[in-house]
Amino acid sequence: MDIRNCAKCGKIYAYDGQKLCLKCRREEEVKFQEIKKYLYDNPDADIKEVSDATGVSVKKIMDYLRQGRLQLKGENSKIVLECENCGTRIITGKFCDRCAEALENKLKGATGLRSTKLKKRTGDKMYIADRYRD
Ligand SMILES: [Zn+2]
Ligand SMILES: [Zn+2]
Repeated sequence: MDIRNCAKCGKIYAYDGQKLCLKCRREEEVKFQEIKKYLYDNPDADIKEVSDATGVSVKKIMDYLRQGRLQLKGENSKIVLECENCGTRIITGKFCDRCAEALENKLKGATGLRSTKLKKRTGDKMYIADRYRD
């Protein structure tokens, strides 16, 4: 078993691919639900308001959006999320549909060294693709 220190509270826990212990993960989940509810109740809030209301940092909220866990109500939301590739406004994840597709095609064509280099990116992309499916 792989034992690590929790990135948040520092306690040791059985590592399972996540950088937080179970207790911190549960706390994060509660906070996450708060953000989600706040965004649902206040779809026109900007990110500072959401951060103030929930006590969660702006960076963390942006992380949730980038991870595809949170979704903005639309591309005209006060919270600005842009495609990391072309800058188009998106409502969740890292890339707009077009870039996500282009990247996927590029990765499919990549071989040898290049594909090893791009491995991390592939992981990200696959995660986004998963989110889009539901
Ligand atoms: Zn912890
Ligand atoms: Zn794009």
